[in-house]
Amino acid sequence: MDQQHLLIINAGSSSLKLTLATAPDYQVLGAFLAERLGTDNPTLNQKAPQSASESLASGSGHHEALEACLKRLKTQGLLSREPDAVGHRVVHGGEAFTDSALIDDQVTAAIDGCSTLAPLHNPANLAGIRATRSLYPDCPQVAVFDTAFHQSLPATAYHYAVPQALYHDHGVRRYGFHGTSHRWILQQAAGWLERPPERTSIISAHLGNGCSVTAVRNGRSVDTSMGLTPLEGLVMGTRSGDVDPGLFDFLLRRGYGAEAIHDMLNRESGLLGLSGVSHDMRTLTEAAQDGHEQANLAVNVFCFRLARYIGAMMASLERLDALVFTGGIGENSPLVRQRTLAHLSIFGLALDEASNRNPESAAAIHAPGTPPVLVIPTDEEQMIALDTQRLTTTGRTA
Ligand code: ADP
Repeated sequence: MDQQHLLIINAGSSSLKLTLATAPDYQVLGAFLAERLGTDNPTLNQKAPQSASESLASGSGHHEALEACLKRLKTQGLLSREPDAVGHRVVHGGEAFTDSALIDDQVTAAIDGCSTLAPLHNPANLAGIRATRSLYPDCPQVAVFDTAFHQSLPATAYHYAVPQALYHDHGVRRYGFHGTSHRWILQQAAGWLERPPERTSIISAHLGNGCSVTAVRNGRSVDTSMGLTPLEGLVMGTRSGDVDPGLFDFLLRRGYGAEAIHDMLNRESGLLGLSGVSHDMRTLTEAAQDGHEQANLAVNVFCFRLARYIGAMMASLERLDALVFTGGIGENSPLVRQRTLAHLSIFGLALDEASNRNPESAAAIHAPGTPPVLVIPTDEEQMIALDTQRLTTTGRTA
């Protein structure tokens, strides 16, 4: 097969990440991050193959950012013709999408239909799709959904115990997110375990700025910590994760508005809220090691909540083939892995201290004779590229 060029696009509410990669051998040719789109001072940073930054014209949006990336790729001789296909990250596919999908008007309408469930993200993802479609009208495009992998959750795991009218009238249920990362981790862990993915059962802990843990039973997601929105579950950089739902009306009755509560739980809570100093785990572990008590508390609450959730995920499995850590924190923080595992000895899980301090890529860090604990780098872009290639070469949405 000829070598293809794929564009991978992740359009956020005010940002755009773009990767140009080859297929079927995945090689990153160029990578960009545009930020503060739609503001007075948008910027474009190139990450690969070289580092460079430029300011974009005031008010530039997704379309302008995309054009600026493509212009750079052309000047650098990396994109001499149209890309063969484009893959887009889309946050919410609701119950409409159980797999990635080849984009057509029906698919864009369905993504738009899921906007009530992700009012910030889906419109941004659509802006990215529209910008690319207007530049490359004949180029096949694929949507890869954060929620799709979790559509296999059984009803017992996705229903909230609330009046079912909320589910039927408003789609209130647990959806789960980070599905692209958990799916990548499943494939990589299956490779390490030398088992087919459909006979692999793991718990995957994706710990970045957003954090979620997923139980995968024989290749299918059967429980996950995020819910209707990405706020549920683990302690995150600035998100609270689980709180008593009674907190909401408790604060309303004390004069906080709904917007203020939303912002507090999403932007001012989590590691930032607990520590009072930072949302960033690296900063906090350094501060904790220097004796900063609040930073230490934040790290401990983070690890304890994670351990509780790993315990909860066991209820969905018959067998644990591996516990996997991934994401910026999962891949890089021996302290978080060690403090989390310290709560899980009841399951027979134990770390090998030396391996935990220095894991190689895709390396095992468990003590001999105990269940596998792995550290595997996530690669959502590559998973999107694989799906894009799968759907554009077969042309079906199976
Ligand atoms: P995103 O979810 O935005 O993609 P990442 O997966 O890059 O984020 O994860 C970012 C988090 O990873 C931050 O909290 C950062 O401090 C943490 N991190 C990165 N390197 C380390 C490290 N060496 N030790 C501890 N935490 C780290």
